[in-house]
Amino acid sequence: VAKEQGNSIYHFYDRMIENQLSENMKLENGLRSALLNDQFSLYYQPKIDAKTGRISGAEALIRWIHPEYGFVPPDKFIQLAETSGIIMDIDEWVVTEACRQNKAWQEQGLPRFPIAVNLSARHFYQGNLISMISRVLTKTRLDPQDLILEITEGSLIKSAEYVIKVMADLRAMGITISMDDFGTGYSSLSQLQRLPIHEIKLDRSFIQGLAHDPKKSAIVRAVIALAHHMELGIVAEGIESEAELRYLRSLNCAQFQGYLFSKPLREEEFTQFVKHWDGSWLDHDGVENTKQ
Ligand code: C2E
Ligand code: MG
Ligand code: MG
Ligand code: MG
Repeated sequence: VAKEQGNSIYHFYDRMIENQLSENMKLENGLRSALLNDQFSLYYQPKIDAKTGRISGAEALIRWIHPEYGFVPPDKFIQLAETSGIIMDIDEWVVTEACRQNKAWQEQGLPRFPIAVNLSARHFYQGNLISMISRVLTKTRLDPQDLILEITEGSLIKSAEYVIKVMADLRAMGITISMDDFGTGYSSLSQLQRLPIHEIKLDRSFIQGLAHDPKKSAIVRAVIALAHHMELGIVAEGIESEAELRYLRSLNCAQFQGYLFSKPLREEEFTQFVKHWDGSWLDHDGVENTKQ
């Protein structure tokens, strides 16, 4: 009996793994045809400058509408795209689309701001990131100053020397490098010491509820001070409440991003948001005005 049970359990797991594999294969094939069939689109989330209250940038975030499954969130497919290698093509599509869009906004006379794009760490190890980026900038005629590349710190564990070289080359081109999800990887501080980045983005897990959580607020306070001392830019992501904003302002955090200001928006909605954004909003949140 025990053996039979063992067997059926074995078959159960076996089948579960098989299902998982075929699910993944379907998704993987789906990703390939998504690129060919125009199923991806970009949404844009504004970043706000703490001193001026103006829009200081936008982050491009990919969205996938699958004809059968509907909306598939990036957390569901980016990892698979990374292990299967399709991420290289997806990210090139994203960079191209984001740069094209930013140039179009400039030509429409919108206030100028940089566009931030998330890049898989794989680009820093394989393929030719520098030539891909130069090609895209030439094609879209976007100034390198108007492009920010966000890279998740946790994903940068290998070949540090090579990664440093690639980042230095991007910097030399005039591109801004931002370290995303800061604090969630296990070697944040040594990364900070070695990598030639311009800016860090504090992960939203530290932001949410920070005003009432002494541990979170201690970490956030220390990271913001660290960024100031290292002369790095600092963006807080995932701000949802006025209490969080007020706290971050009191610590002189330089830039804000989160649902409190806006969710990621479609192109037309984002354009309207920029046109109607009133920076003086920040003056009315009950915080001493830090503008000079
Ligand atoms: P991320 O780069 O850290 O992006 C921020 C995520 O937080 C986005 O989720 C955004 O919609 C969400 N978010 C922003 N403000 C708030 C807030 O106030 N509250 C909450 N709860 N969430 C907020 P999204 O768009 O689902 O993207 C998830 C992750 O997928 C991104 O994290 C990024 O790592 C990755 N990703 C997104 N687009 C791309 C892409 O084009 N290429 C690559 N390689 N990765 C991407
Ligand atoms: Mg990001
Ligand atoms: Mg992040
Ligand atoms: Mg992330």
